[in-house]
Amino acid sequence: MPIYEYEVEGGDCHICGGRFELRRPLDRAELKDCPLCRRPVRKLIGQVNTPKVLKPTSISDAKAAGFTVLERRDEGTYERL
Ligand SMILES: [Zn+2]
Repeated sequence: MPIYEYEVEGGDCHICGGRFELRRPLDRAELKDCPLCRRPVRKLIGQVNTPKVLKPTSISDAKAAGFTVLERRDEGTYERL
């Protein structure tokens, strides 16, 4: 499942940080609003990574690869270890 990076319109948001990444199935409609703050977002071109190509093994690796810690928490994997 590809991971897309989105930027909130205006680029500054205290709720989501103004920028976030989301893993979305290809058959889902493009995200139009931030799921956290409901502000309009745009998808950043060239920031798509597929798990097959890039596989972070730790939180620091994930950060280095541009993944957000927030996404890891959403998945409930690292937070509960
Ligand atoms: Zn936001």
